Formats: sequence, structure tokens, C-alpha cells
Amino acid sequence: MPVKPPIQLSIVMPCYNEEAVLPETIRRVSAVLEGLRAAGKIDERSRMVLVDDGSRDRTWALIDAACRSNPWVSGIKLARNHGHQNALLAGLFTAAGDAVISLDADLQDDVNAIGEMVDRFIEGADVVYGVRRRRDLDSLFKRSTARGFYRVMNALGVKLVSDHADYRLLSRRALDHLRDFREVNLFLRGIVPMLGFSSACVYYDRADRHAGESKYPLRKMISFALNGLTSFSNFPLRMITALGFVVFVFALAASAWILYVALFTGRAVPGWASTALPMYLLGGVQLLCLGVMGEYIGRIYSEVKARPRYIIETVVDPPPAERHRVEGAGSPLR
Ligand code: UDP
Ligand code: MG
Repeated sequence: MPVKPPIQLSIVMPCYNEEAVLPETIRRVSAVLEGLRAAGKIDERSRMVLVDDGSRDRTWALIDAACRSNPWVSGIKLARNHGHQNALLAGLFTAAGDAVISLDADLQDDVNAIGEMVDRFIEGADVVYGVRRRRDLDSLFKRSTARGFYRVMNALGVKLVSDHADYRLLSRRALDHLRDFREVNLFLRGIVPMLGFSSACVYYDRADRHAGESKYPLRKMISFALNGLTSFSNFPLRMITALGFVVFVFALAASAWILYVALFTGRAVPGWASTALPMYLLGGVQLLCLGVMGEYIGRIYSEVKARPRYIIETVVDPPPAERHRVEGAGSPLR
């Protein structure tokens, strides 16, 4: 269903130790918002919502100051570092607006695609995915691991939009339904396609990080990928069952053969191979299986505890009347 502009738009950006890049990010996103307002596409209640994910540098000080000097900025400070996905959620669920766009703070996602996303929303899309046209600026390692991950997920039947990260627009309606997904190990990229609704894609070139360094070390990348895998697929568990079955059949056959040799042929020579080999083999298989089970049990453990996914410490959000005091416009309450 097409929407009549101007719309109220919020742009949510999680920030973790981003003091190096934040001033430039705020400048560029403000310019985009200003342009969209001039074009009559968004109204003046629109804003960027900067979520400070428990940064240890001056990120919050910068956000706080920007809230007071820039009419397009409001800020949310989380009580501690909750991780990218949870910081994103905090922003998505706190921000007002007919549509909310999520964006990384490091300017890797082209802010010029925002206008196109808004156009698709106005035309009636509830979900607009930002898709990378090329990612040759990412390191070879990041690129190949990402490709491998998308392949595995696809093979397991998990619907993912490839080369789409967390740069997307969600309508108010889509956001309201997103709230009903209460899982703690939230993998937004997999959940959003499950929402349904009409969707569109907007293509952009991924740039290099503007400043600062990646906040996603290998450790976080692995845990993120494991979360994605285990929250959408029981395939690894099923593999264990299949493996267990094969080993069991093999063991039955082997026992029959051993019994036959021992009882009827008298050729049974004591050998270490037949004793040691199965020991190693079965030990390995069992450990592997236990590990995979452990992964799932760990997830169940954290879901059952149902702890809050984020805790907000402060919200700085001056009312619209104070934000856009246009000189000579008469009453500030327009
Ligand atoms: N981020 C966050 N909390 C974290 C880690 C990252 O809010 O614990 C933010 C970070 O500030 C950035 C976005 O998530 O805006 C993506 O992180 P980054 O650019 O470091 O990841 P990469 O692009 O290297 O995958
Ligand atoms: Mg980045």
C-alpha cells in the first residue's frame, strides 16, 4: 500500500567506540536528512538515533553534544556493551517513525541509498534490503568466510538475502511484528525475511571503513555465524542422529564378524589395531556429537533464562518543537 509523503523517518545507528568516525557520520547523515526534507519526503520529526553500545571512548560525549546542537540527532545510551545486534534492537524498538532504517556508524554502507529506500517505502514496500553490489574492499578473508557462510545457510534451507547485512528499512508494521520474536540469540538477517510483507532491494557499493577499526574480531564473527546457524536449523542435530545410526549398524556388523571369527574359526589373534582403532574412532565421534549438542543446549539455556536483550540507561531526545526553530517562522510549535 503506497504511503503519502512526508513520512516520519528514523535512522538507527549502533556505535561502539566510534569517536573517530562519528562526527563525519553525523555530518553526512544530517545532509541526507536535510535533503530528504527539502524534497518533501520526510517531515521534521525525522532523525538519526545514535545508540551508544557501552563505548569506552568519547562516543557518548559526542552523541550527547550532537543531540543539543543538531536537530537531526537523538541518542540512546545502553548501560553496557550488549553487542551489535542488541544495540540495533534497542534503537529499532525505541525509535519513533513510520519507517526506521538501520545503518552501521562507520560509513561502510553508502548513506546515499537512504533516499532510494525511502522511495521504495513510499511506493509501498514494508521491508527494503540494502544489498552490496560489490565487496572488493573487504579483506579476502572476510569476503570468503562470508560467502561460505551464506552458502552453508542456503544449503540448510535458511532464507537469507545474500550480500545484505544490517542496512535495511523496516516499516512500523514490520517492526511491530519483529517485537514478537523474543529470542535472545537474535539473528536479524534471518528473522526479517520470515516477517513476510512486501519487500524491495536497493543496491549500493560498500566502502572502506571511514575511520577507526572493525569492532568485529574473528571471535565475534564466529559466534555470530554459529548463532545464525543454530537459531535457524536443526540440521546439525539431525546429522548426529544419522551419524549415530551409521556407526551403530557398522558396530553390529563388526560384532557379528568378531563373534564368528572367535567362535568358529579359532583364528582370533590378539591385536592392538582392532582394539585401539574403534576406541579412537568412537571417542572422536562421541566428542563431536557432544559438542554439537552442547551448542544447542547452550542456546536453550540462554533462551530459557529470557534475560533482557538490552538495558537503556539514558535517552536524549529533545521534542521536535525545540529542534527545528526556523528563524522568522513564528511560533516554534508548528
Ligand atoms: N557495534 C556495536 N557493538 C559492538 C560491536 C559493533 O554497536 O559490540 C557497531 C559498530 O559501532 C558499527 C557496527 O556495529 O557501527 C558494525 O561494526 P563494525 O563496522 O566494526 O563491523 P564490520 O563492518 O567490521 O563487520
Ligand atoms: Mg563496518
